[in-house]
Amino acid sequence: MKAKLRGHHLICLNFFRGEGYSEEFIKNIYSVILKEKVEIVKGADDVCARCPYLKDNKCSSNEYTDEKIMLQDKEALELLGFRQGMIVDWRIISDKLPRIMEEWKKQFCLDCGYQKVCFPFTLH
Ligand code: SF4
Repeated sequence: MKAKLRGHHLICLNFFRGEGYSEEFIKNIYSVILKEKVEIVKGADDVCARCPYLKDNKCSSNEYTDEKIMLQDKEALELLGFRQGMIVDWRIISDKLPRIMEEWKKQFCLDCGYQKVCFPFTLH
């Protein structure tokens, strides 16, 4: 079974620590990360599908606009060297993280509400 994931979730889910917007959202993420293969998709994905902020298939988070999320997805794929439609596995993704995380943190993590979950000792 494959998970369908958008660009920024390929990076952010590596730092999932069991926290999220609701119980249903968290439970769903556990089922997503247990799937061995990931198909890269554009826009709302298997994580967004159980998110209370998904409205009309767009992200309506308090923290981000849908445009900003789409930009994050695009930048994540550029950094990872992936394209939409590719099928990858978690090991291929995690092998690439050390090379890209400095740039990713600089661009997106400093303003993110999950910063203290992902990097409890390094960014704040
Ligand atoms: S906040 Fe937006 S991008 Fe994140 S899971 Fe929810 S709908 Fe998707």
